Amino acid sequence: MIDRVVPLLYLTAAVSFILALKWLSAVPTARRGVIVGAAGMALAVIGTLLKPEIASYRWIAVALVAGTAIGIPMALMPMTAVPQRTALSHAFGALAAALVGTAEYYLRAPAIDRFTMGALSLEVLLGFLTFTASLMAFGKLQEILPTRPVTYRHQNIFNLSLFVLAASAGVYLVIRPEAAWLFPVFGVLALVFGVLLIIPIGGADMPTVISLLNSYAGLSAAAMGFVLNNKLLIIAGSLDGSSGLILSVIMCRSMNRSFGNVLFGAFGQVQATPAAETRAVRSATPEEAAGILQVAGKVIVVPGYGMAVAQAQHKVRELYDVLTKAGVSVTFAIHPVAGRMPGHMNVLLAEADIPYDRLAEMEDVNSDFPQADVALIIGANDVTNPAARHDRNSPIYGMPILDADKARTVMVIKRSMSPGFAGIDNELYYMDRTLMVFGDAKTVVGHLVRELAGGSGHA
Ligand code: NDP
Repeated sequence: MIDRVVPLLYLTAAVSFILALKWLSAVPTARRGVIVGAAGMALAVIGTLLKPEIASYRWIAVALVAGTAIGIPMALMPMTAVPQRTALSHAFGALAAALVGTAEYYLRAPAIDRFTMGALSLEVLLGFLTFTASLMAFGKLQEILPTRPVTYRHQNIFNLSLFVLAASAGVYLVIRPEAAWLFPVFGVLALVFGVLLIIPIGGADMPTVISLLNSYAGLSAAAMGFVLNNKLLIIAGSLDGSSGLILSVIMCRSMNRSFGNVLFGAFGQVQATPAAETRAVRSATPEEAAGILQVAGKVIVVPGYGMAVAQAQHKVRELYDVLTKAGVSVTFAIHPVAGRMPGHMNVLLAEADIPYDRLAEMEDVNSDFPQADVALIIGANDVTNPAARHDRNSPIYGMPILDADKARTVMVIKRSMSPGFAGIDNELYYMDRTLMVFGDAKTVVGHLVRELAGGSGHA
């Protein structure tokens, strides 16, 4: 009976994972995707717990309690901490895969065939390196560790040599599985490589790195599937591995950077001391800004990282309400890498119940900017910097941007003239038709809402 139930549960789980990924790729169906994915995982766990090979449930119960105790506080972390939370869950997943691989080695070697030992080596190598690399990524994002890239001479050659050494140890174990003395060395090399891989990468590049680590953890789990002869692990691991890789490719493309540049380019290290900017900017008070918005017909809001930091999304929703009520057409222009993680803006705006159909992707909205009365930039910077179009020396040269500079009036809400993630000045701020409204995004937008709500309505 159990023999028939388990494959059925596994099959349903595999189908759920595929549907979950499909639904997760669009905002309106994303919630369904999460629920179906979680349900699929529950079926997978139940199926595994029903397996006759399980000798005792005692330690499984202990792990279940420990996992729940760690998982619940992690799930309650604020939305802005999602990248570090993801890094931690990859660390745990990868550690689990590496430990299962280690246990299997000590249980089965040297009576282990070459193919299984090959899969086991890959599982342990990727598992251990992803574990320490993800912990480092977590530390950088949480600012427990220095976020700046730490570099030294011949670093890339050193790291590559270490990786080759670790991989060679893995290959040697495939040929001579009885070399038990080498196994701990192999594990330690992988752990050390994970740390050294992340040291030269800047904190702000961590979201891209995390999605790459996601794919390593997935591949490690798929390899574990071959070791344990578990088809569901192979399917889930491959889905995880490929989706993580696709996401990192999308993120790199949206920033117009290569994988090599993210991993080995030490981006964010040389903060070329910005020549003290002497050019003047035009600043406006929230009252003046509200006056302009009140008479606008079409406003395009460009949210960015600052909106997330200020947690201004609910105030932005109020602004949307008050403007729409006054007859102003309001659209939200979403840049694929605005914020610090993929979909960051979509998640925050959805949290504030801003209707999905008001959100427009960069390719669709860019042609609308010339007709917009106001481009209202809330805590975004790099994703609007026109230098990306023409300044070959700019670190963001070639990154597709939102054409906010083409609107009739550009309003920028930020606290100071400080740069964004790329560490560079934004020429948009010095244009004649740009108004800087200095202050925290939540406070300023709240101020705008009060002014507009108390104002005389649309002219
Ligand atoms: P930026 O990092 O370019 O700029 C954010 C701006 O927000 C800053 O200039 C800052 O100015 C302002 N800000 C910070 N706090 C507040 C606050 N409380 N109130 C108001 N403003 C605030 O953000 P963008 O979203 O424009 O661009 C994202 C950048 O991150 C891109 O360079 C992208 O390549 C990069 N990136 C994105 C990833 C993703 O997946 N989304 C992943 C990795 C990198 P001030 O201090 O003056 O207030």
